[in-house]
Amino acid sequence: MPIVRGVRLLVVEDELRMAALLKRGLEEDGYAVDVASTGPDALWQAGEFSYDAVLLDLMLPGLDGVEVCRQLRTAGRWMPVLMLTARDAVDDRVRGLDVGADDYLTKPFSFAELSARLRALIRRGAVVRPTELEVADLRLDPAVRRAWRGTSELELSSKEFSLLEMFLRHPGQVLTRTRILENVWDFAYEGGSNVVDQYVLYLRRKIDRPFGVEQLETVRGAGYRLRDEPNALVEQE
Ligand code: CA
Repeated sequence: MPIVRGVRLLVVEDELRMAALLKRGLEEDGYAVDVASTGPDALWQAGEFSYDAVLLDLMLPGLDGVEVCRQLRTAGRWMPVLMLTARDAVDDRVRGLDVGADDYLTKPFSFAELSARLRALIRRGAVVRPTELEVADLRLDPAVRRAWRGTSELELSSKEFSLLEMFLRHPGQVLTRTRILENVWDFAYEGGSNVVDQYVLYLRRKIDRPFGVEQLETVRGAGYRLRDEPNALVEQE
């Protein structure tokens, strides 16, 4: 077994015997290993120290592994996460991968396999993946620049996409035309704030109108706001 120097792992496992077994085996491989036995402890340790990878048990009391992984990613922690799941828990595996776990291993597993998977993940290193933005049934994935209302994919121009992304990052807040202009258009843009009104109109035609809802609303004299929940659209003559 190769000796790995200077690589620090966090093992998150509430079953003490399992945690001790993993720690001992990984230390024999040459890793430095810390153990956390609850979700909150894992989040605290990962925030306080720097880990090259996290071995994350799915079934944890209180905060489960999926939630721990989600919160790590939301906090901008991108170290590889290897999720340990129970046999046949396909939904859990999918949920884990959805929230940014890199790989999973089904219990019971051989230590040799764990060791091999871990080496592969550590060799690859951290992969920064912005998490999806979601407000009601509007969803946007900045990494692949795709957006959806429910299951319908939205066909957006580059500017419309950036505009929607900005609204999704500030749900429920009133965004002024000036602020939108500065964020979505660059500072050198001199076309005036009418362009914002124009693009909000375009965006509504794509994200609201076809679905019979109104979520992107005008706040008179202030700007625009993406509501937390859409209203049913009232047809106007
Ligand atoms: Ca467990």
